Amino acid sequence: MEALIRGPFVDEPLDLESLAGCISGRLILPGDDEYEAARHVHQTAVDARPLAIVRAADARDVAFTVLFARDNDLDLAVRGGGHSLAGHGTVDGGIVLDLADMRGLHIDPDARLAWAQPGLTAGEFTEAAAAHGLATPFGDTGSVGIAGLTLGGGIGWLVRKYGLTIDALVGVEIVTADGRQLVANEQDHPDLFWAVRGGGGNFGVVTRFQYRLHPVGMILGGGTNISDVQADQKQAGDTAARDATIIGGAAGAGAVLGGPIGGALGFGIGLGVVIEIHTRGQAWRNHG
Ligand SMILES: Cc1cc2nc3c(=O)[nH]c(=O)nc-3n(C[C@H](O)[C@H](O)[C@H](O)COP(=O)(O)OP(=O)(O)OC[C@H]3O[C@@H](n4cnc5c(N)ncnc54)[C@H](O)[C@@H]3O)c2cc1C
Repeated sequence: MEALIRGPFVDEPLDLESLAGCISGRLILPGDDEYEAARHVHQTAVDARPLAIVRAADARDVAFTVLFARDNDLDLAVRGGGHSLAGHGTVDGGIVLDLADMRGLHIDPDARLAWAQPGLTAGEFTEAAAAHGLATPFGDTGSVGIAGLTLGGGIGWLVRKYGLTIDALVGVEIVTADGRQLVANEQDHPDLFWAVRGGGGNFGVVTRFQYRLHPVGMILGGGTNISDVQADQKQAGDTAARDATIIGGAAGAGAVLGGPIGGALGFGIGLGVVIEIHTRGQAWRNHG
């Protein structure tokens, strides 16, 4: 699939009304009741004031917003779940393209495939898939957005058994900087598909992800405190069951051991720096 949206923006610089007239979603401006809440991201230290926030309803809104920002030479911040530690989900004086209202999810349990929109969180996706006894590997916290997590690679509780999130990514629908809407997968635009698997938001705005689903069994998870974190976690990993993954704080004294899907639902352990230790060689070889 390939479609090209052309905005009417080139001759109408900074005409936010023309953008509002083109989109089906909402345009939130400074002074609007929603603006204060809408400008904030998960990282509370980030305090940016965007020129406007677009709550996109669909891929067409995304394309119009990308073109509007480009034509007006404005910075564009794309926001999925808003959990970027660097605060990339917002921007001072630019346009925030907030995808939180795009939360469609279609699960095909027979084909073990799912199409998911970028406003979903890992927890929402995981709960819906778990109803079918299936899961896609995400991270350790349910509130993180599937979008940023997937585009960054995605490492979590299922990594030893099923790999990174991008190992389960089958394809994407994406809007590129010139407003084109493309499908990228192993057959169509394979270079772009390669790039989005770890390249973050640098290659376009993903409007749908297609994931492979894996069968999952009993949920096992739990927390433990150990003193000499790195050495003891390494030892715990060496002796843990094949499917277990350990996640702990790099400098703290906490560790959480997760089985098949416990962590994908999110324990909310809130560790600042997350490291993962995957022993027995296999995980490092697959995902290093
Ligand atoms: C509490 C916490 C726990 C975490 N645990 C893990 C973990 O276990 N495993 C792991 O791998 N990571 C983990 N992370 C890191 C997390 O995966 C990244 O911060 C991720 O980028 C967040 O995605 P988001 O959609 O919520 O964030 P956002 O801030 O919305 O987006 C993050 C980045 O992706 C871009 N982006 C978002 N949506 C799109 C889109 N649709 N198209 C193109 N670009 C887009 C944004 O522009 C931004 O640059 C954790 C982060 C936090 C805060």
